Amino acid sequence: MALAVLLAGLAPSCQSVAVTGRRQFNMFSLEQDKQLGADAYQQAMGESKLIKSGPQYAQVKRVVERLIPVVDDPGFEWEFNVIDDPKTVNAWCMPGGKIAVYTGILPIAQDDAGLAVVIGHEIAHAVARHGTERMTTQGLGNLGLAIAASQFESAAKYQQALVLATDLLVYKPWGRDNELEADEIGLMYMAEAGYDPRSAPAFWQRMAAASGGAGGGGRLAGYLSTHPSNAERIARLEQLLPRAIELHERSTLRP
Ligand SMILES: [Zn+2]
Repeated sequence: MALAVLLAGLAPSCQSVAVTGRRQFNMFSLEQDKQLGADAYQQAMGESKLIKSGPQYAQVKRVVERLIPVVDDPGFEWEFNVIDDPKTVNAWCMPGGKIAVYTGILPIAQDDAGLAVVIGHEIAHAVARHGTERMTTQGLGNLGLAIAASQFESAAKYQQALVLATDLLVYKPWGRDNELEADEIGLMYMAEAGYDPRSAPAFWQRMAAASGGAGGGGRLAGYLSTHPSNAERIARLEQLLPRAIELHERSTLRP
């Protein structure tokens, strides 16, 4: 009961997730999402070799700029970077809209529509605030509560939060529910942006094939360990296709 009172005092918000309408409990404010994401992002970018020009950069820029105008933007400060790392099949979006695409995922994305599947899905995790929602659930009673209570007043606690956020967002697999939700939201976004949503199940089939069905050893370990491609995910995407195709056909945007 004491915890309930304390939680009420922190004014955590219960809000609806865009597109799916799921009710979500999050102890972090949007401002905290943005601060946490921006700082974790800066740290990650500082350790990476970035590409700032050329066809790979241009492709990512093109897709990001087409997706952003159609997403349910909670007021994020969007930013993207392309990491020159052909051995790493990965992409992510930190809370607050900070996107990273590793060049290793581009051959599996194949084209702009395939890349829109990946980036749309990652943007969906950020828009749905899965990162801090998960920190709320996993850290409740200790770190999450301390952070929410202190409003990041303590530098040490904030550093702890950064480490936890990066670990959760980049290295730990998302849960099944978050994955399926990000798939659904990302699918609608790519369709609205004018990309053919049929590219989504096709992309996940390529990911499954590339992993050889063996859990993705070697260079695929990154994205496949956080984003397992499986029959359930592909079947769910196919179920959602009629709605997405309708959105796509109504969209006035065309790549
Ligand atoms: Zn995901």
